[in-house]
Amino acid sequence: MTPNDEILVKTPDALINGEATIATIKSCVPEILDPWKIPTLDVDSILVAIRIATYGDNMTVNHKCKSCNADNSYDISLRLYLQSYSSREFVDVTSLDDFIFTIRPLNYKEYTEFQKTSIALRRSLSSILNRKMEDSEKEKLLDPIYKQIAENSLRIILQNIESISVDGETETDKLAIKTFFDDNDVSYFQTIKDLIEKNAQAYEPPTHNIICTECQKEDSIRVTLDQSDFFAKG
Ligand SMILES: [Zn+2]
Repeated sequence: MTPNDEILVKTPDALINGEATIATIKSCVPEILDPWKIPTLDVDSILVAIRIATYGDNMTVNHKCKSCNADNSYDISLRLYLQSYSSREFVDVTSLDDFIFTIRPLNYKEYTEFQKTSIALRRSLSSILNRKMEDSEKEKLLDPIYKQIAENSLRIILQNIESISVDGETETDKLAIKTFFDDNDVSYFQTIKDLIEKNAQAYEPPTHNIICTECQKEDSIRVTLDQSDFFAKG
């Protein structure tokens, strides 16, 4: 099993389908009437603020050293997370030739739906890969899954797009936008994809530089916030 598979197997369904996060936000911040509509980019900051209000600024993170396998634990300051998030910027416009493309962040509902599909597909993929059978038989089973993974990625990108404008005219219809990309050079689609990836990188959780207490090797860790152990006391 790759580390990724391990996460897939260990993550309870309540987290994958977003219910655990939504229940937490509803109970701690009742002013947010419909947490499903929160832009995904803001969910981490809200979870961090809740965690600070509940357990304080400090969070202990356990980490196994990559060099010597020693178990270390590190204290991180969650206020630094909030500071770091408040300085991020979401870029929503890009252009190519005369075309101007506007995007928006997905809300938590949309994000969770795509995530559920993506995890289900990756689970099917790894279960087929682990089966004992002829390679040619495996390929027959894998082909449709790879196709669905590609379709899901395409749907995510299209969902991000708000509008395409050219010569003062603006198109917001999803089907018309899809047709535009089907009919035009792939560079237009790539322009949007690049911007979405740039925004995703800009909103990645901050990294922490750490030093192993056993072998003194330096490393850097990134704490993922939207998962089960985040709300365990630490
Ligand atoms: Zn070490």
